[in-house]
Amino acid sequence: MTNLSIIFELQNVRKIYKMGTERVVALEDISLTFEQGKTYCLLGTSGSGKSTLLNLLAGLEKPTSGSIKFKGRPLENLSEKQLTLYRQGYIGFVFQSYNLLPTLTALENVTLPLIFRKIGSWKRKKAALKMLRAVGLGNRWQHKPHELSGGQQQRVSLARAFVNEPQVIFADEPTGNLDTRTTYEMMDLITGMARTRGQTLIIVTHDNEISEYADQIIQMRDGLVESVKENAARQTPVIQADSEKNEEGITKNEENPDNITDNVVADSSNAAESVGD
Ligand code: ADP
Repeated sequence: MTNLSIIFELQNVRKIYKMGTERVVALEDISLTFEQGKTYCLLGTSGSGKSTLLNLLAGLEKPTSGSIKFKGRPLENLSEKQLTLYRQGYIGFVFQSYNLLPTLTALENVTLPLIFRKIGSWKRKKAALKMLRAVGLGNRWQHKPHELSGGQQQRVSLARAFVNEPQVIFADEPTGNLDTRTTYEMMDLITGMARTRGQTLIIVTHDNEISEYADQIIQMRDGLVESVKENAARQTPVIQADSEKNEEGITKNEENPDNITDNVVADSSNAAESVGD
């Protein structure tokens, strides 16, 4: 069952950076919608505005003008603290360079988002181990990042992104540091996991082959959307991710958009600050 409700809606979004007296137009005039449960690719050459668009969707930066709504709520109305809670509650991130903490084990890295959400220690470990198993690393949970291959490190970062059961996963050049074979395995895994769990996946890449894994390919050029293509012939994941639901009682994200602002306001403590980076 595919839920086709709209998760992000962008209207006439512009982002201009001021560099001294110079103005850099990173995004010109973007109007797009993203539906729940679909996989998207932001495709374009370097400098076309892909990462800027991802940063705006993640609430890491604000648009110069225009509006970005998450489940009907404008992100521009949220405070920095509310935006932090929005990211912790609804978004999972996968980065090109994995961004794992080098002194922590695979298991400890995966538990981090659950610490931010104040899940108890025992539940955290069980959920993290389960997610490591889902990415094929159940026997590597004690390893530190430097004891893992690049592909394995990216699997740990996938487990970390998915452990919170976020509604949206952002993946910025997720296979940029991987060899060809590992790239395909990783794309099968990440798209399979997102589809199985009904999550929206937004992948940033400059690589046409990667974009073929998406349901919709958004081609960007010079801060503009050049084309939006439905990709009926998308790559079907070969490696099916573990489809088991989390039965450990991890708090599910609240479905009701009316609760977003209420939730982030209600949670006045910021667990992220106490954990460090
Ligand atoms: P892409 O991810 O497609 O490579 P970016 O979104 O990183 O593109 O960048 C789009 C444009 O915005 C580029 O011209 C880039 O130099 C500029 N840009 C991005 N971030 C900043 C920033 N923080 N300050 C100034 N210019 C920026």
